[in-house]
Amino acid sequence: AYEKKEQPEVNIGTAGHVDHGKTTLVYSLTGIWTSKHSEELKRGMTIKLGYADGGIYRCSNCPFPEEYQPLPECKECPSGSEPELLRRISYVDAPGHEILMTTMLSGAAIMDGALLVIAANEKCPQPQTFEHFKALEIIGIKNLIIVQNKVDVVSRERARESYNEIKRLIEGTWAENAPIIPISALKGANIDVLMAAIQKYIPTPERDLTKPPLMHIVRSFDVNKPGTPPEKLAGGVVGGTLSQGELKIGDEIVILPGMKVKKSGGREEYQAIYTEVTSLRFGEIEVEKALPGGLLAVGTKLDPSITKRDQLIGNVLTIPNNKLPIIDHIEMEYHLLERVVGAKEFITARPIQAKERLMITIGTALTKGVVERVSSNVIEISLSKPIVGISGSRAVFSREINGKWRLAGWGILKL
Ligand code: GDP
Ligand code: MG
Repeated sequence: AYEKKEQPEVNIGTAGHVDHGKTTLVYSLTGIWTSKHSEELKRGMTIKLGYADGGIYRCSNCPFPEEYQPLPECKECPSGSEPELLRRISYVDAPGHEILMTTMLSGAAIMDGALLVIAANEKCPQPQTFEHFKALEIIGIKNLIIVQNKVDVVSRERARESYNEIKRLIEGTWAENAPIIPISALKGANIDVLMAAIQKYIPTPERDLTKPPLMHIVRSFDVNKPGTPPEKLAGGVVGGTLSQGELKIGDEIVILPGMKVKKSGGREEYQAIYTEVTSLRFGEIEVEKALPGGLLAVGTKLDPSITKRDQLIGNVLTIPNNKLPIIDHIEMEYHLLERVVGAKEFITARPIQAKERLMITIGTALTKGVVERVSSNVIEISLSKPIVGISGSRAVFSREINGKWRLAGWGILKL
């Protein structure tokens, strides 16, 4: 029983190759299995982002690193000692499977920092280790901790070799100085040292509470059990993280671009969705007012058929006063990755061509697009689905190579 009093203030994502221990690590940090926890999994649907909230506590009687603990009760001290809560954290557990890369990318949009999990018993980098490492870079993650996992099943020699492989991976890159923490997620070994590193290397970003609230929607649900009578139906729920501002019960909100509607002549258009906040919760914690950070579920007065099955992923929630532009065309300076990532083979990226089809991730929105014009540094793309244009946000694009969508490059939106 973990203490659940305060809302989490920072989001930390996991990344790394499938089976390297991401979900097990989140469990050892929080006591929660994200995959079992996930509603989608329970309902047998596609695996989306899982998440779990946990705390980092410090016992003033204990030495480093034992002082760092996941529980409000010190397991090292005589009963009665109460470790101090340092921070509450939402862990966003990225799925590891290759086809879910796009899910990982939209999750990255809400991460304040990341744990790149690398199993010591496999040669590094595995394809997704490299792909996620690149993804974290192009999505603009600054705070990274490398978690060298499964040290319980390798020899001292192999542990050292693995460490050197990791060093080689990060040498000369943006993450050159990232700490590498050896642990066993399964045995719970060295988790205290990892928590100390999280405190040091993944600080809570400064949040502007005076700005209008802004939330990128990462999940949306119908929380009603099948067969609930209409008069008992709870309104639709949307999940995400406030990146700025605050949200209170009773606030009028708008979800953009909103719902697809057919206009006369078969034309499709998106219509903003207006509603009101009826409840706010972080995991099990109900609050009257939500601040930035943490995975927030916002209850609304919407018909749940609008929010069911993640239909509102990619939308932005804000207040009606905050006029945000809806765009279906972007033009920006871009950076192309020199090498195709994610593939087993080494493939050099060819230049982007006019008319090429791309997949674009902006915030949590994912849309296809066609390259209208391209020069060596500027690209113009028309999007097949409109998005909310927020100046300064990152657009990441992927291209299809041998039948798979591969990370290709990125740019910063300027409006
Ligand atoms: P994910 O795909 O990265 O989320 O990996 P999981 O957390 O699902 O772990 C994959 C498998 O590795 C599971 O069978 C875990 O029990 C196992 N595993 C995870 N961490 C460790 C560890 O530290 N040591 C050992 N020996 N096994 C681990
Ligand atoms: Mg997992």
